[in-house]
Amino acid sequence: MKNTDYDEKLIDKDIIINELKSELEKLKLENKKLKEELYLDSLTNINNRRILDDVTDFDSIIMGDIDYFKNINDLYGHLKGDEVLIEVSNVLSKYIRDTDIVCRWGGEEFVILLKNCDDKEAYNKALYLKEKISELKEMFGFDITMSFGISNFLFKKTMKTAIDEADKALYKSKKMGRNKVTMYKE
Ligand code: GH3
Ligand code: MG
Ligand code: MG
Repeated sequence: MKNTDYDEKLIDKDIIINELKSELEKLKLENKKLKEELYLDSLTNINNRRILDDVTDFDSIIMGDIDYFKNINDLYGHLKGDEVLIEVSNVLSKYIRDTDIVCRWGGEEFVILLKNCDDKEAYNKALYLKEKISELKEMFGFDITMSFGISNFLFKKTMKTAIDEADKALYKSKKMGRNKVTMYKE
């Protein structure tokens, strides 16, 4: 074999390796986009509940449910109801940290996962969100409130248990008259 043949083969190999590398990058990007679409709630543009299957590392969970949302639909129509869902999602997204995750659990229910935060911080965060949600009245001209339930120290629990506890605490907030925050207790 002549030296030049050998050199050409090496160059060919380099070209193929570079092409494969660039294909791999494209596939990774495509995969990331598909995942984002899979996790997206099409109405509100925040995550849907599928994101929860992918998260393990968090310390507190806040579950929130818009109060008397059926009345809002009945009184002002479903399109207005949809607008409320979008604005509530915007508020929840705006006032959490970059390391936290908010998702639409379904209907008018939302789940927020908080990292590096103790009971008190999670409670205060929910109180703050509750206040910010009630300020939406200025935009819509009618009352919008939300009830919250919190479950904490999640590293000892599964996601299912944590959601269940937050849901029980949320139910207490509803029973106590709504527009409240309740911390789950055994
Ligand atoms: P509570 O204070 O006990 O939570 O009462 P609620 O009226 O909020 O709860 P209920 O479960 O009775 O009603 C929830 C309503 O949410 C019923 C359903 O039609 C409405 N809903 C669910 N998803 C959507 C949506 O995507 N858009 C609109 N506009 N309404 C929705
Ligand atoms: Mg509900
Ligand atoms: Mg509700």
